[in-house]
Amino acid sequence: MDIIILGSGTLSSLPWRNPSGYFLQNGNRRAIMDMGPGILRRISQAGINVTDIDTVFLSHFHPDHCADLIPFLLSRFLADPDCNSRLQVVGPAGLSDWFEYTVRDQGRWLERRPLLLEPGESGLDWAEYRIRAFPTGHTSAAVAFRFDGEISFFYSGDTPFSEPLMDWLKGCRYGILECSFPETREQAAHLSARQAGLFAARVGLERVYLTHIYPENDTIDLALRVARYFGGQVVVTEDHLFIRLGREL
Ligand SMILES: [Zn+2]
Ligand SMILES: [Zn+2]
Repeated sequence: MDIIILGSGTLSSLPWRNPSGYFLQNGNRRAIMDMGPGILRRISQAGINVTDIDTVFLSHFHPDHCADLIPFLLSRFLADPDCNSRLQVVGPAGLSDWFEYTVRDQGRWLERRPLLLEPGESGLDWAEYRIRAFPTGHTSAAVAFRFDGEISFFYSGDTPFSEPLMDWLKGCRYGILECSFPETREQAAHLSARQAGLFAARVGLERVYLTHIYPENDTIDLALRVARYFGGQVVVTEDHLFIRLGREL
């Protein structure tokens, strides 16, 4: 599985950390996971053709994770009017309602719509992976995605320090894990650097990729602060970072 970090930041971040977005490619399947504002530009900067994307995964409906979905759909329509009927959007329970509300008054360009899927824990198959979603508790709808195939990894979306989620993610080798705030600013809806380390250790990860980094946590010693609580490898992601999981380059 090849991954490009398109957005490792938040709405508070400076331009080099765009709000959330991740490009996934396995074989001839291509997906975007979360689509914060600016991700459409990041897709273009990465040399990815919007019409080549077959799936969008949305972790939740906060704007830093989904604001570019409608611009993305329109840019695909402008390239190929039939394109969106070949897309699937995978998200939490409530995706269909959210989508209908969001696209009202868009007019005729969106008559050919993507397929909307809310797979939950039963999951779906994509690119030789079984992908399942589990509630994180960040909002009533928010989910994390777990990928089981050649290797097992997860994307946390936004999450509090959730015991049921950590138990559910056990067995994953790699995790793309939110790491919002420093230890001095812990809060209920997100992970601090300390909690991200404890989270990675509890799941039993080999390597953790930190993302969703707020400016106050974006210090040169971030990896060190997480590594106080986690014995595996710590990678502080950056926008445009290329990651290959499962096969060595
Ligand atoms: Zn959120
Ligand atoms: Zn967020």
